[in-house]
Amino acid sequence: MALSAASISNASRTLSSSTTFSPLNNSSKKISPSHFSSSLSLAHRSSLFRRSFVSQWGRRESLRGHVSSSVKAVLVDESKEKVKVLKGDMWSVHKFGGTCVGSSERIKNVADIILKDSSEGKLVVVSAMSKVTDMMYDLINKAQSRDDSYLSAVDAVFEKHRLTAMDLIDGDDLASFLSRLHHDINNLKAMLRAIYIAGHATESFSDFVVGHGELWTAQMLSYVVRKNGQDCEWMDTREVLIVNPSGSHQVDPDFVESEKRLEEWFSRHPSKTIVATGFIASTPQNIPTTLKRDGSDFSASIIGAMLRAHQVTIWTDVDGIYSADPRKVSEAVILRTLSYQEAWEMSYFGANVLHPRTILPVMRHDIPIMIRNIFNLSAPGTMICRPAENEDGQKLESPVKGFATIDNVALVNVEGTGMAGVPGTASAIFGAVKDVGANVIMISQASSEHSVCFAVPESEVTAVAEALKSRFHEALNAGRISQVAVIHNCSILAAVGQKMASTPGVSATLFNALAKANINVRAIAQGCSEYNITVVIKREDCIRALRAVHSRFYLSKTTIAMGIIGPGLIGATLLDQLRDQAAVLKEDFNIDLRVMGITGSRAMLLSDVEIDLSNWRELVKDKGEVADLEKFTQHVHVNHFIPNTVLVDCTADSSVASCYHDWLRRGIHVITPNKKANSGPLDQYLKLRALQRQSYTHYFYEATVGAGLPIVSTLRGLLETGDKILRIEGIFSGTLSYIFNNFIGTRSFSDVVAEAKQAGYTEPDPRDDLSGTDVARKVIILARESGLKLELSDIPVQSLVPQPLRAIASAEEFMQQLPKFDNEMARVRQEAEDAGDVLRYVGVVDAVSEEGRVELQRYKKDHPFAQLSGSDNIIAFTTTRYKEQPLIVRGPGAGAQVTAGGIFSDILRLASYLGAPS
Ligand code: ADP
Ligand code: ASP
Ligand code: MG
Repeated sequence: MALSAASISNASRTLSSSTTFSPLNNSSKKISPSHFSSSLSLAHRSSLFRRSFVSQWGRRESLRGHVSSSVKAVLVDESKEKVKVLKGDMWSVHKFGGTCVGSSERIKNVADIILKDSSEGKLVVVSAMSKVTDMMYDLINKAQSRDDSYLSAVDAVFEKHRLTAMDLIDGDDLASFLSRLHHDINNLKAMLRAIYIAGHATESFSDFVVGHGELWTAQMLSYVVRKNGQDCEWMDTREVLIVNPSGSHQVDPDFVESEKRLEEWFSRHPSKTIVATGFIASTPQNIPTTLKRDGSDFSASIIGAMLRAHQVTIWTDVDGIYSADPRKVSEAVILRTLSYQEAWEMSYFGANVLHPRTILPVMRHDIPIMIRNIFNLSAPGTMICRPAENEDGQKLESPVKGFATIDNVALVNVEGTGMAGVPGTASAIFGAVKDVGANVIMISQASSEHSVCFAVPESEVTAVAEALKSRFHEALNAGRISQVAVIHNCSILAAVGQKMASTPGVSATLFNALAKANINVRAIAQGCSEYNITVVIKREDCIRALRAVHSRFYLSKTTIAMGIIGPGLIGATLLDQLRDQAAVLKEDFNIDLRVMGITGSRAMLLSDVEIDLSNWRELVKDKGEVADLEKFTQHVHVNHFIPNTVLVDCTADSSVASCYHDWLRRGIHVITPNKKANSGPLDQYLKLRALQRQSYTHYFYEATVGAGLPIVSTLRGLLETGDKILRIEGIFSGTLSYIFNNFIGTRSFSDVVAEAKQAGYTEPDPRDDLSGTDVARKVIILARESGLKLELSDIPVQSLVPQPLRAIASAEEFMQQLPKFDNEMARVRQEAEDAGDVLRYVGVVDAVSEEGRVELQRYKKDHPFAQLSGSDNIIAFTTTRYKEQPLIVRGPGAGAQVTAGGIFSDILRLASYLGAPS
């Protein structure tokens, strides 16, 4: 519809009588591409508007003088006709994102916020209702792919807005809004039909289509504000914001022209409260365009800068800018303040809470941006402003403010010996990249100049690689450049913080955290501003990397996700110990252990949050699902927000043990009292240890020998400090220790075994203890730890189960028959006694002759092994340093409490390896 003379005179009447515009006046000035320029030329035609505008603000200024003398205001004199527009602190600019205006209820809520703002001038920028811009892009996609459903999709857009408007407004307001909506939808249908026929949409066609969401929310909101008694106008920012395209998916505002048009707009609309469309703008030729996806933040900042507003408040659905995307890192914390540079870097590197280009316009005028949550008004939000210098509070802050990631990135590596020292190589490379219009996100060049590596969006990499290959065709043929390689499926992780520059060791900490989470870094860049350190990693590692580095800088605690396998006697005791100790560990030692899953052989409990260990038994019963070890592993390792994972195998199962290699390979730490892996086939053991040594993944198994006694760690300590093991000899079985400590005087062997069984010291079938296999497994573990390459079958084992009783089926029958062999055992004891000796069942590792054995041995009565009581273990290490007097470790070596204690201390060892303070 062309602008009519009637609407001009109507507008001038309204202004001269200083009353508000009726919405109809606005709708009469709506624009469609065909008459866009004629509507814009309106302002040029009448200086009358400007004069009345000036006089109105002039009145306000004198009033303000009484209210506050500190308010800064500038009279900007820019137009040729010397029109003076009052700009400055009296203006507050708000921007409401899609979710804030996502429903009629929410739009009312936004109107409330506007009404409560007591600023003298309020300019409110709105996005389209949430999802509407996506729906609009979808219309174009459908139309250009000639999918007829675009028509019903347009109807859905219409219906959404019709219903919302009906909830919000009534009477004439509703009628005029609906008539405008109808008109727009008809225009859209015509345009989409053209796109459908052409099978293609130009950028300006699609920009015109997608911008409608904002036009509709701005109008609806302005009606609601007005309905609540406040004078309010809506602004179609295509009349005001003039931008020039600047590279792929970017535009640059023309401030001079836009300010001019803003003044002209004001001269026609002298309102104190304005609701403006976000996202949309015009080219200098008055063709509708957009500020590109998520551009409403940018609109608000451009307008805020043009008005020299005292603040731009960006209302969204989160409490402010978090130290990392809160959808990816649940531990992320709100940042109370950010410098402009920090906010820019965060948004550039993927924190989509803010459009990256939002910063520059307001920064020029030192206008702060507040990010606030419309759904949580009590949250103070994040303030983006010039940083206060040398404030004490700042010194305590982490040097890294936040982390952000960009997915769907590919790396391009141009490499060749012929590149070094050749001027112009980089310029040729990036010239070729520019020619295909690709956006280079980061660059890294080794100082040898041997290679240049840079990251571009995955969608642009094929074109980039082809351009480079053709540009360097000759150099490639001549071998001066060896390759143009593309590495797909990467992500960029950036650490951002103004204080990184002045704090040594930040990158070391960052890379250390990545290494400990077993994440391979593909490329690194640190700009000389040192506001950010950027690393390129595999896309699949991205979230884990983000959590690992975030927790390193932000969770002062070492946070470890745990999966407990086998909640039997030992596993259950461990869970109870964890429950009792968790608070102290957190408070006093900064170690945060979170059990995220518990699995038995039949049922498992998976949880997205830490399992409440005060009632884990009930939870397993009530919420348990069918056990599936792979699903369990996946869950504990991936599906939550904790960077480190440990699986604790409390079973004695070899099938569980066979998973360790895979777990370690996936970066999962393993802790276990299960002897099966380390005493199983030698080649598998060696593979496991080799993998463990190569990676930053830990495998601890202290409780496999001597339960909670420090046996493996003592042995390691000796070896690592250069001692040489000659012999390890010990009583490794608590059960057999108990039996021989009590097999004295006239007591029969079977009687002592029955007593031990009764007291719960033996396995349900005591032959499992008496056979010596368990001791043999411990011997092999220590032998291998000492460097001997032995198989379990290399260890001769003297079984205490009499040959004829080995095949007996039941434990009961075995116990009944055992007394038949008491005489033989009594004879052996008597012989020992006659020589002044006692009997002890021991395991021996002879490191010199490289062998091991398990046997019943005689020891002098003054030997430390003869002095034992109860079910104690005792282990003697004879080494080059401890040659005369062996190093002896002695103490209770069996039982659920001490075994669980041994596992627990491995967990704490892991925490300290991962960086817990010592
Ligand atoms: P709006 O529609 O209000 O413009 P956006 O969806 O564009 O909202 O931006 C807000 C979203 O940004 C949040 O819901 C959050 O999920 C996401 N986000 C990503 N990184 C961060 C971060 N570091 N801090 C806060 N929010 C973030
Ligand atoms: N509505 C636009 C979009 O979704 C702009 C914005 O909301 O910032 O991209
Ligand atoms: Mg946004």
